[in-house]
Amino acid sequence: MHLTELGERLKRLAARVGKLPPQRRSVAAVTLGLVAGITLALAILVNQPLAPKVQPGAWQEAAQQQVGDRPTAGQPASPAMASLPLARIERRPLAKLPPPEPEAPRQAIALPLTRVSVEAARPAIIQRTVAITRGDTLMAVMTRSGSDRKTAHAAIQALSKVYNPRRLRPGQELTLLFDPRRDAATEGSPGGTDASRPPLVQLAFTPSVEQEILVSLNDQGRFVPETIERPLKRRLHRADANIDDALYLAAKRAGMPAQMIVELIRLYSFDVDFQRDVQPGDRFEVLFEAFYDERGELAKYGDILYAQLHVKKTDLPLYRFVMKDGNIDYFNNKGHSVRKALMKTPVDGARLTSRFGSRRHPILGYRKMHRGIDFGAPRGTPVLAAGSGVVESAGWNGGYGRYLRIRHNGRYKTAYAHLKAFRRGIKRGKRVKQGQIVAYVGSTGRSTGPHLHYEILVDGRRINPLGLKLPTGKKLKGKELARFQGVRGETAKQFAATTPLTRLADRR
Ligand SMILES: [Zn+2]
Repeated sequence: MHLTELGERLKRLAARVGKLPPQRRSVAAVTLGLVAGITLALAILVNQPLAPKVQPGAWQEAAQQQVGDRPTAGQPASPAMASLPLARIERRPLAKLPPPEPEAPRQAIALPLTRVSVEAARPAIIQRTVAITRGDTLMAVMTRSGSDRKTAHAAIQALSKVYNPRRLRPGQELTLLFDPRRDAATEGSPGGTDASRPPLVQLAFTPSVEQEILVSLNDQGRFVPETIERPLKRRLHRADANIDDALYLAAKRAGMPAQMIVELIRLYSFDVDFQRDVQPGDRFEVLFEAFYDERGELAKYGDILYAQLHVKKTDLPLYRFVMKDGNIDYFNNKGHSVRKALMKTPVDGARLTSRFGSRRHPILGYRKMHRGIDFGAPRGTPVLAAGSGVVESAGWNGGYGRYLRIRHNGRYKTAYAHLKAFRRGIKRGKRVKQGQIVAYVGSTGRSTGPHLHYEILVDGRRINPLGLKLPTGKKLKGKELARFQGVRGETAKQFAATTPLTRLADRR
């Protein structure tokens, strides 16, 4: 059918020695791409969720210190982090120690065991914070941190009553407290008799922002597990602004966190080409959730409940709706899903002749990966755009022969190869609609007969179109539609009743 893999490999080699012919893309397009890339990278950087900042397996040197020297939990770690409220809050270790101030009511009640045992020997307690690395077991982490196997085993046993240790993921931080004053042998602790090693008295971690788990040694030398729920309070935030340059920048200025901006762009990506469609003077408005802990500090962001984008003189509203099967999707005023499916078979009356995966290549004769699917169809059969988007490439492309690639949004692209011809007017930069005829089946390039070679690219990687779970493109009907209209009305009221973030930000 085709030899595109080999062709690509050669191309890559050529590129490496600098012999690749100059990209046909204009400098402007490249610059645009770079700017968009950097912006997105920044957005992602700013929002590292609960990032394991600890080197895998490495000790946090600073963490091994006396309790008395420990800064209070609420103290920002650095000025740089203080300017990024979300990052600061999420990275801060949560209540690793019993509260230094006795008046902290929740913790005083919630941690009777630890408070007592730690208060008694406060000056000598050693705290160690370690992160789980890939392939680690809890036992390995704990023994590496200075616990003996027997004690670690006892603590893990106790932990298992409230939390399955297998659920611990790489990057999860654990805090271990050791009490050198506690004589393991005489108190009958499972810590054994190694006097040089202070016995473990507590294991603590926060598997989610809503939950904290402690396993503490009590006075009888037994480990007792405890789960502390941290109920979060939902608040709605509203942001709205004119788009003077790019949506990302406008939303940032309007006080929206980067994480939610990325989500917003993703929601609209099937309808809007952000590099082309958005013009100065366009507007947006968003209502989204944020969750706060009992101290009133931001714990995490939730969903976008409503958004409206005004571009090209058109309003594009969308509302979050929890469907009766529990799935969440976004719909416009009419109850049509804003997520559009890509067609899995973009050619009429075709039969699938070759699947995605390893196969014996019909021309080369050896096994290689086939990173697309082939549809056998007579020469000249119309090829349809699998989804709406912009033609990114239309021309000769080595083993692919006549080749067409459509960019649907920031994530999805589709490619069509071995084409006989493009439809009139189909060229780079042309906007196409889903289902529109864009080309005709042929056998150009390295191909043994007329067929369409079809690829779906997600984030630049070719993936199996048949295995891809694509957004549905659903339309609500009947009772479900009526229920949606109710939710829509409620959401509109909530939006109207919420103060825009910019006004909140001004007060800071
Ligand atoms: Zn193929």
